[in-house]
Amino acid sequence: MALVVQKFGGTSVGDIERIKNVARRVLDAKNQGHQVVVVVSAMAGETDKLIRLAQQVTPDPDEREMDVLVSTGEQVTIALLAMTLKSMGCDAKSYLGFQIKIATDSAFGKARITGIESEKMLEDLRNGRVVVVAGFQGVDESENITTLGRGGSDTTAVAVAAAIRADVCEIYTDVDGVYTTDPNICPKARKLSRISYDEMLEMASLGAKVLQIRSVEFAKKYDVPIHVRSSFNDNPGTLVCKEEREMERVVVSGVTYNKNEAKIEIMRVPDIPGVAAKLFKPIADANIVVDMIIQTSSTEKGCADLAFTVPKTDFSKALQIVKEGVREIGGKEVLSDENIAKVSIIGVGMRSHSNVAAQMFSALAREGINIQMISTSEIKISCIIGSKYTELAVRALHDAFELDKPSVTEEK
Ligand code: ADP
Ligand code: ASP
Ligand code: MG
Repeated sequence: MALVVQKFGGTSVGDIERIKNVARRVLDAKNQGHQVVVVVSAMAGETDKLIRLAQQVTPDPDEREMDVLVSTGEQVTIALLAMTLKSMGCDAKSYLGFQIKIATDSAFGKARITGIESEKMLEDLRNGRVVVVAGFQGVDESENITTLGRGGSDTTAVAVAAAIRADVCEIYTDVDGVYTTDPNICPKARKLSRISYDEMLEMASLGAKVLQIRSVEFAKKYDVPIHVRSSFNDNPGTLVCKEEREMERVVVSGVTYNKNEAKIEIMRVPDIPGVAAKLFKPIADANIVVDMIIQTSSTEKGCADLAFTVPKTDFSKALQIVKEGVREIGGKEVLSDENIAKVSIIGVGMRSHSNVAAQMFSALAREGINIQMISTSEIKISCIIGSKYTELAVRALHDAFELDKPSVTEEK
């Protein structure tokens, strides 16, 4: 008998038939003798619909009220799933985040889980019930409802799994595992049977939305194995787990893309100490995460040009802050571009190989794709390119590193 957390994403609970399908899967696990906690997302498209409603009211909705609004999608699915389970003769009970409780900080729209009370869930499990938990939401110290950022139900699931010390966290979605790249844009993408936490962390943070990045952080920290699989078939999925020695032999294991960033360029700022600090401090104070930054010497003597990227959701706020800062420090011009994408290659084996960056740049050059910015770490290389080249770039990189061919690990 195992203690299992099963998470079902939006497409998997997209209509009543699919909710029935989910209930049948939960029942299967229960009938095999397992104890099951289920975490569900809102029905496909519902969260987007709620966001659009708010935008009809104002382009800049109050953040607290926004979380009250967007958290409602999950309330619908937990009730429908618990009802369905009961109608099939299986005792079940649904809970919202605050009822559990899933405690978070107060960063509305991107809150972090600070603690989960497990007693109520364990009590229900002891009584033979299936526990159905609303993903994506929590409650802060002042009892405000919070949400965890888009895709946050993954994080709810893994955090709940860590809290109740589950044996495994199963993430059921609309693809049957983690692939070398998004299978929906690259037909040659290959399913990985295993991937290390670190590589998955990089893939998630660089755009592979199959798992929310914080869910992988939790999994790594508390050593929760994640099994990513399809809710529509029984194919074996992908196990996200600790790094194993043979995984290191793979130089590049995945390609990702992210179209959710925008670029801000500040031209001809004085090239003197303290300028970058003055520009970036107010951006950090506004809780905006800056991703890539490059500084180059300007065509104008004694000046520098700065370019950086921020999430599109924070773009207008960041632009406004930068324009104020530039007025203060005496920069000449602020440019912006929302039509960019970041393509990245990832692999723990890059640590010990030198030629990877050159291979990546050549592959993009062969397709005539211009690289606007570059950033590297031990196990990834990212390039900013024009967003219209995204799919082409992903396929070219997938081909260049022959990711369609199984690696040593995958052959096992
Ligand atoms: P859910 O609603 O179940 O949470 P998501 O849409 O958030 O599902 O995540 C699944 C999607 O992630 C897939 O449909 C796929 O398009 C995308 N994806 C991006 N990169 C990858 C990858 N490397 N492997 C698998 N899926 C990926
Ligand atoms: N419903 C939320 C979203 O669409 C959370 C999730 O699906 O994980 O982002
Ligand atoms: Mg998701």
